[in-house]
Amino acid sequence: MKADLKGMSLEETEAWVEAQGLPAYRAKQLRQWLFKGLVNSFKDMTNISKGLRSQLEETARVDHLVQARTQVSKDRTTKYLFELEDGHFIETVLIPERGHFTLCVSSQAGCAMGCRFCLTAKQGLKRNLTAAEIVDQVIHVKRSMIEPDRLTNIVFMGMGEPLANYNAVVRALGNLISEEGMNFSHRTVTLSTCGLVPQIKRLGRQVRVNLAVSLNASDDETRSFLMPVNRKYSLKTLVEALKEFPILNRRMITFEYVLVGGINDRDEDAHRVATLLKGTRAKVNLIALNPHPDVDLSPPSPERALRFQEILIGHHLTAILRKSKGQDISAACGQLSGASGQSSVVRGKL
Ligand code: SAH
Repeated sequence: MKADLKGMSLEETEAWVEAQGLPAYRAKQLRQWLFKGLVNSFKDMTNISKGLRSQLEETARVDHLVQARTQVSKDRTTKYLFELEDGHFIETVLIPERGHFTLCVSSQAGCAMGCRFCLTAKQGLKRNLTAAEIVDQVIHVKRSMIEPDRLTNIVFMGMGEPLANYNAVVRALGNLISEEGMNFSHRTVTLSTCGLVPQIKRLGRQVRVNLAVSLNASDDETRSFLMPVNRKYSLKTLVEALKEFPILNRRMITFEYVLVGGINDRDEDAHRVATLLKGTRAKVNLIALNPHPDVDLSPPSPERALRFQEILIGHHLTAILRKSKGQDISAACGQLSGASGQSSVVRGKL
């Protein structure tokens, strides 16, 4: 088996380099090319001799994704469809914000969590992504940008449940955040989970990263209806784990709340959310359900959504009503399916 250099830590790369009979400095040199030079082939490593490049090609890999399609939304949100080497598809979404970009990466092909409102859930889990496949999404997209330095934020909110692919995700975080890796600030990298409690506790001990939690309901019955994971880890267990989660300096835990018309959008739900989150450093992101034909749920009226936000604010919570971006190209929350179809293809730099 060839070594996946984009998924290995510096120490592992050093050990590997040594096992190849190469001097230790090669590890840093390789990582420089991968994470700063954003290369996808050994051929592009121009300060490495041809002989060594072909030796490396025999023993290691640095190309994991084939860019199958790119779609640009009216609001400039860009969705990348990548094909994995075994034929599965994943999607990665580049979101323009004021002055910078956020990249939404996938952690699994498909998802096993079965949330009722989410399109990715419909296809079930195909497989976990490797750490290299996760990091390579960032490398591919950054390469395609005119101003790559504007990509400052990463969110693990694409396809899959990151904490169900714990080891690969933690490895990927290491290479995204470390200075000699891609050097993203741990303040601008956010992992979002549906609420896998044991892994949340483990993550808190192991990695410094922002946490987002998909809450989506204020009582166990509704949450279990929308998110089967709640049958295993109830709201009480979840919130207790979150109270213990070590939070970076003055940061907050983001709670995502998909408003579903007539299901979780009543006044009493909003009041209960406030009670539930008492004692956590919480920020609530409200998002109206993005509908699609395969899901028999609908968004609330705009007035209902505003009222829900008002109630939370009345309880002194920070609550933001998020506008969905990229809806016209199915790039919005819960719309990623990795479907390969015909659509607008864009070439060149974005
Ligand atoms: N599995 C992780 C990462 C995916 S994040 C998690 O659950 O957090 C995807 C986010 O999109 C989640 O907050 C989810 O609640 C939200 N989402 C899923 N389907 C949606 C839909 N149809 N409309 C709006 N938001 C949706």
